[in-house]
Amino acid sequence: MGNPTGFLKVDRALPDDRDPKDRLVDWQEVHEHMPEEGLRKQASRCMDCGVPFCQSGNSQYAPKIAGCPVNNLIPEWNDLIYRGQWKDAIDRLHRTNNFPEFTGRVCPAPCEGACVLGINAPPVTIKLHEYAIAEHAFEEGWVNAEPPAKRSGKTVAVIGSGPAGLAAAAQLNKAGHAVTVYERADRIGGLLMYGIPNMKLEKHIVDRRVKLLAEEGVTFITNTEIGKDIPAKQLQDEFDAVVIATGATKPRDLPVAGRELKGVHFAMEFLSKNTKSLLDSKLEDGQYINAKGKNVVVIGGGDTGTDCVATSLRHGCEHVLQLEIMPRPTDQRAPGNPWPEWPKTLLVDYGQMEAIAVQGDDPRHYQVMTKKIVGDESGQVKEVHTVQIQWVSDENGRMSPQELVGTEKVYPADLVLLAMGFLGPEELIIEQLGIECDERSNAKAAYDEFATSVDGIFACGDARRGQSLIVWAIDEGRRAAREVDRYLVGESFLP
Ligand SMILES: Cc1cc2nc3c(=O)[nH]c(=O)nc-3n(C[C@H](O)[C@H](O)[C@H](O)COP(=O)(O)OP(=O)(O)OC[C@H]3O[C@@H](n4cnc5c(N)ncnc54)[C@H](O)[C@@H]3O)c2cc1C
Ligand code: SF4
Repeated sequence: MGNPTGFLKVDRALPDDRDPKDRLVDWQEVHEHMPEEGLRKQASRCMDCGVPFCQSGNSQYAPKIAGCPVNNLIPEWNDLIYRGQWKDAIDRLHRTNNFPEFTGRVCPAPCEGACVLGINAPPVTIKLHEYAIAEHAFEEGWVNAEPPAKRSGKTVAVIGSGPAGLAAAAQLNKAGHAVTVYERADRIGGLLMYGIPNMKLEKHIVDRRVKLLAEEGVTFITNTEIGKDIPAKQLQDEFDAVVIATGATKPRDLPVAGRELKGVHFAMEFLSKNTKSLLDSKLEDGQYINAKGKNVVVIGGGDTGTDCVATSLRHGCEHVLQLEIMPRPTDQRAPGNPWPEWPKTLLVDYGQMEAIAVQGDDPRHYQVMTKKIVGDESGQVKEVHTVQIQWVSDENGRMSPQELVGTEKVYPADLVLLAMGFLGPEELIIEQLGIECDERSNAKAAYDEFATSVDGIFACGDARRGQSLIVWAIDEGRRAAREVDRYLVGESFLP
């Protein structure tokens, strides 16, 4: 630790985001960089704790004990930033995380929620440091393709090119196996490419990493849906092992009257078409759902809903509203949510900040249940009917929503976006391979084993754990790669 009293003398600071009014006219990232001097000061706040909770994320204890799921060596690289040893910092960071440029941008940072400094002061700006180390390294030309010195002669098919599939591919390729990644979309990246909007993660950042992986020897095959274009059994026959990393792409629906009306869409249709059109033609081809001039109602108060709010505002919507059935989170940690748990406190994210800048208030309304959606005579949506609810517990402590009489509301709506979470992986591949599922319909495979019920078939990421986070997907991809390596050659030296 370079500066033992840094945490006493330096306040937490982050670079300002771009002004919402400026950033709403483009699709570029909302965050600004911090100059090196500021970063070194921030890094000096790290106390190099004897037990660094920041880096101790563990699937077994999550979310009770948060911390970094890939066990990034956080105090080490905080110190290296403080000392200006950036090359050593990226070497340390790459030891535990294949893609710090993604997590440095879009991870919600469970590490910061578990930072020891957070007990009585704002935590160390760990995510900012990760981002800075990664981008500094790319700028300096320190991140280059490193193909394996020798090949094992074994072959692996990875189905799905999200962060789990990419991390598994990167690691298996390092171990010398010939890896082929199959992706049904036309671009590689999974939700990094077609879920998370450009203003959170610009897509040339994803392409930059995919290009490196290709140079290292990973083969990518796009526009190919396993199960339809190629039977899953064929991969099982042709490859020595198969990794299922297909994500949890089945959206939760809203079973109310009017669901079938024109103008009611799943959030992912809205978001993915927007990014595709943006990348293909800067939104000139019209192949997306346009919110311009519309009253938009987003149903779902989570991150996907927030991405819909931010996208609608960039289209120039008339007004956007975000309805959430759960109560408003508290401003500070509740007594039942102590450090080092992930803090379940109110976050005003980039989309809400933008809505506040344009509309004057936070677009989120809490404890609101949608009763029905009403359309006009042409079948186009025109209203969302809601009622306020309160959550009541029964004698077994089970919570259920109770409608509050007299709180019914009608909101004008030209576009309704359903962002209420995901129900697990699609069944096609799972059925074709005869893989057992768990009680939540995910591919059944134990954490740290990742082997499914079928010999030689492994599962990781959202397809195994349900909709989660990029950092967990990277963690699972890396760990699954180690198990596949063991399966193929009897031992593994992969970290
Ligand atoms: C809108 C949105 C925003 C999010 N924002 C964040 C965020 O800011 N931070 C964060 O940490 N997490 C975020 N998440 C969650 C995060 O993106 C996921 O947890 C993560 O991407 C899961 O990675 P994965 O590799 O398991 O699956 P995915 O990223 O879902 O990738 C799976 C891939 O498999 C492909 N596929 C599926 N079936 C087949 C098939 N049969 N054949 C070939 N290919 C197939 C899919 O096309 C997809 O490309 C967000 C999620 C959404 C939906
Ligand atoms: S818990 Fe916080 S202060 Fe302690 S080592 Fe980690 S980042 Fe530094």
